[in-house]
Amino acid sequence: MMARTGAENEISEARGAVQDAARSSLFMVMAQFMVVATVSSLVASLLVASHQPWLSLLSGAIGLALCAPGCLYLLHKTQRVVGASDAVADARQARLNDESRRRDFEAQVADAFEMAEDETEALSVAERALRAVLPDRSVELLLADNSHAHLTRMATSSPDGEAPGCPVGSPQECPAARRARAHQFNDSEAVNACPKMRDRANGRCSGVCVPVAMMGRTVGVIHTVGPVGEILEDATVERLQVIANNSGSRLGVLRIMAETQLQASTDGLTGLLNRRALENEFRRRRRPDQVTTVVMCDLDHFKMLNDTYGHETGDRALRLFAETLKGCVRPQDIPSRYGGEEFVIVFPGCGPDDANWALERVRGQLAVAIREAGVPPFTASFGLVEAEPKEDFASVLRRADAALFVAKRAGRDRVHVQLRPSDDPLVDAVMPTDSAPLAGPT
Ligand code: GH3
Ligand code: MG
Ligand code: MG
Repeated sequence: MMARTGAENEISEARGAVQDAARSSLFMVMAQFMVVATVSSLVASLLVASHQPWLSLLSGAIGLALCAPGCLYLLHKTQRVVGASDAVADARQARLNDESRRRDFEAQVADAFEMAEDETEALSVAERALRAVLPDRSVELLLADNSHAHLTRMATSSPDGEAPGCPVGSPQECPAARRARAHQFNDSEAVNACPKMRDRANGRCSGVCVPVAMMGRTVGVIHTVGPVGEILEDATVERLQVIANNSGSRLGVLRIMAETQLQASTDGLTGLLNRRALENEFRRRRRPDQVTTVVMCDLDHFKMLNDTYGHETGDRALRLFAETLKGCVRPQDIPSRYGGEEFVIVFPGCGPDDANWALERVRGQLAVAIREAGVPPFTASFGLVEAEPKEDFASVLRRADAALFVAKRAGRDRVHVQLRPSDDPLVDAVMPTDSAPLAGPT
């Protein structure tokens, strides 16, 4: 059930007035004929009674009396026709104004969504747009999760902070989403109301549901409720549709972008950041006034494990090691797969002692995880350095690689801590003088 806009009502009224005026034009012709006949008879009677002035006066008076209603009628009809055409012009202008406001709104919404850089920003745009369209009603945007099995409330606008509370659990359950078209009902107990809205705990209501699609697939709904009998104008429902369309397309693009970015920045086997992403994260998260520890690790005799148990077992061991790393560091630490069986961990805001303690936890936990997973036993060696305040990433890594080399040479399955380049004669002895990375542990 859809309501008419104000402009449409005016146009319809104006059309009625014009049709009315046209119908009465027949009467106008008749009235004109009557006036002409009366004037002619008056002139004739004047001619006939030219010698009797009282008869002439009487004829004149009768003529005028007969003319007057016709003239007044004509005047009235002319005014109606002029008024009706004014109303048509006003209604046309009102329709043009409506159209221009609709286009302005569409452009503003599209602009705002285009500026949103991530999903959080896009949802905040949706919330503001919903508030602008329906400032006095509670309205929500529900979107499906990745599995498309559940609808989750992602944005809400409400004058009293209460969400409309759509009880639908998944896009398949939502009639508007399933039929991919807006649905409005004036009473949740009406025959055509959303079946999920019947017997509401909060009482009867009117409602509007506008589906949201992403890349041609319906993934959610904009949902609002109001008092029983309150129907939103078509123009308002159209605006909700504009918000739904723009939310769907922008969120779709942002999700694809995020996925592509994730694929480009993570290692497929372990899910850890890859080398390029690690460098970017190191630069992004580095604070000049903050201590940062960097660790390079390498699995020991991994080639032998591969050769003995096969590449697939080697892959399982790599995944297990990555899981152990993730489980033993803080959320703000950055574990990554640097390449092959080599890993790098950056500990922002963490000194060598704490980082060393975390590595001992990794070693202990690795032994436990290997036993539990039934993977052939293997160990890892670690080279730990503290980044100098303005040292670049390549230089820090070279030093961490050198410290790892020391750990390997000292017998593997251990952590070697190198606080400063000059502190460790063994590292200095193996440190190259140029900037090329060490070829030691592989
Ligand atoms: P070291 O203790 O000195 O580090 O000896 P290592 O055997 O670990 O070192 P080496 O460089 O000789 O061997 C590294 C092995 O890691 C060789 C390579 O096949 C294996 N490797 C690298 N990437 C992968 C991978 O993605 N999956 C598997 N299964 N093995 C990998
Ligand atoms: Mg190795
Ligand atoms: Mg290696």
